[in-house]
Amino acid sequence: MNTKYIFISGGVASSLGKGIIAASLAKLLQARGLRVTIQKFDPYLNIDPGTLNPYEHGECYVTEDGAETDLDLGHYERFLGVYTSQANNVTTGRIYNTVITREREGAYLGKTVQIVPHITDEIKRRMLLLGETGQYDVIITEIGGTVGDIESQPFIEAVRQLRWELPEKDSLSIHLTLIPYLSAAKELKTKPTQHSVHELESLGVHPDIIVCRTEKELSPEIRHKIALFCNVKPGHVIQSIDAWTIYQVPLNMEAEKLDRMVAERLGIEWLPEPHLEPLKDFLFHLKNPEKEVDIALVGKYVELQDAYKSILESFVHAGAACRCRVKVHSIHSEYLNAENLVEKLSPMDGILVAPGFGERGLEGKVLAIRYARENGIPFFGICLGMQMAVVEFARNVLGYTDSASTEVNPDTPHPVIDMMEEQKKITVKGGTMRLGAYKCRLAKDSLAYRIYGAEEISERHRHRYEFNNAYLEEMKRAGLSASGTNPDTGLVEIIELPSHPFFIGVQFHPEYKSTPEKPQPIFVNFIKAAIRKREGKA
Ligand code: GLN
Repeated sequence: MNTKYIFISGGVASSLGKGIIAASLAKLLQARGLRVTIQKFDPYLNIDPGTLNPYEHGECYVTEDGAETDLDLGHYERFLGVYTSQANNVTTGRIYNTVITREREGAYLGKTVQIVPHITDEIKRRMLLLGETGQYDVIITEIGGTVGDIESQPFIEAVRQLRWELPEKDSLSIHLTLIPYLSAAKELKTKPTQHSVHELESLGVHPDIIVCRTEKELSPEIRHKIALFCNVKPGHVIQSIDAWTIYQVPLNMEAEKLDRMVAERLGIEWLPEPHLEPLKDFLFHLKNPEKEVDIALVGKYVELQDAYKSILESFVHAGAACRCRVKVHSIHSEYLNAENLVEKLSPMDGILVAPGFGERGLEGKVLAIRYARENGIPFFGICLGMQMAVVEFARNVLGYTDSASTEVNPDTPHPVIDMMEEQKKITVKGGTMRLGAYKCRLAKDSLAYRIYGAEEISERHRHRYEFNNAYLEEMKRAGLSASGTNPDTGLVEIIELPSHPFFIGVQFHPEYKSTPEKPQPIFVNFIKAAIRKREGKA
């Protein structure tokens, strides 16, 4: 079978969940035995989202190979349980960068370098790249943005050309739109969808299937009307109705026969029934929890749900694994102070201090950590959360009240978190970060070892600063243990307090690898500790 290419575009409005539809279709095809991956083409000029503020674009997701990517790649990995890489996320910035670099090298032999064909050729090259590895039967390509935007036009043009170049049965276009419900008229409206499809067609791409986001069921008449006016086969208009969880969407798409439609259109003759039992089990446990815990998520981007996407999803996975509803309470670290600390944190069964950059809200994080440490509340610090646990320990246990991370106080006399020499030499933002998967060796008698049940693990990183080993012996003597270290560099990756019921800080980001079918073990054990605390057994 040739590699099949499915292109997903969106219209009418942004944030319709193209990523979830792409991931759901991929999940169904994978559950029928196909090897599937998803890639996202984003129309902005940043080379990658690494330098974007989370308020701009939500969480920056990190892959095994250290690519800083769009958060949709997190959905792809969570739905498929398959790792993505740098090749799975391409931005306009990266495309232009490649073409302009090549132009400077003289590779275009004096020709005028243009959007068509040079930019579109580079887009097409990248769209086919993963297919050429021979590792996949199906490549789903999500085009970021909304059809009609100036930015996404070269991407749509590349899709048009590829659909023309590829054998008829090897490519397929899906367009995702919105069917708004006007409550005054008590009617679902199809006109925006018609306009959006016409816009796409004016760029030369005809959709094979239209997926309609809707709050209400689409009647056969409405489906027929959309099919007729948008020139797709009757039956190729399907609904994606609001779901109680994103993980329900693959089953909704199965009920709409999206996977069958796609397979048929691509000429894939026979496929076994989808194996979706693990997903269904997960959904059952998610829907029917037997207990409940309250968890504080202390961070500075809490007003924006997407900023901590992978952490929130990890709680969903861990909660289902523990048959427990995890109620996450977002607590803004900037507004946490000595006066409101007890009121805000005492009802909590666990405290997670989030990753982050810069000074804002840092002291609130230190206060929350102190409260967790002194009151035996299960604590989980991720990246900056771990670094602040080290600062808190240095200040309040070792008595170095002026200690800090050099990220915010380069002149502190006690730099317990500091930049390593090799990192200091790099000055360009976006180039200085320790990114991607690194090994970590666990001490045998530690909480970390009990959690992972392995001596060596690998987790993903995204940070510049590190635990300063000059303070390690002193901290150990005072009761902090470094239970995970990088076997090659000796850098501290995990700290814990053995005298506390559950206190762990990790320099890496375990949330990136959690999936519904493989919940991340630290999150699972953190929830278990929170349940024990809730039940008074801690
Ligand atoms: N700002 C810290 C660093 O760069 C932590 C980064 C993070 O939490 N991801 O080291």
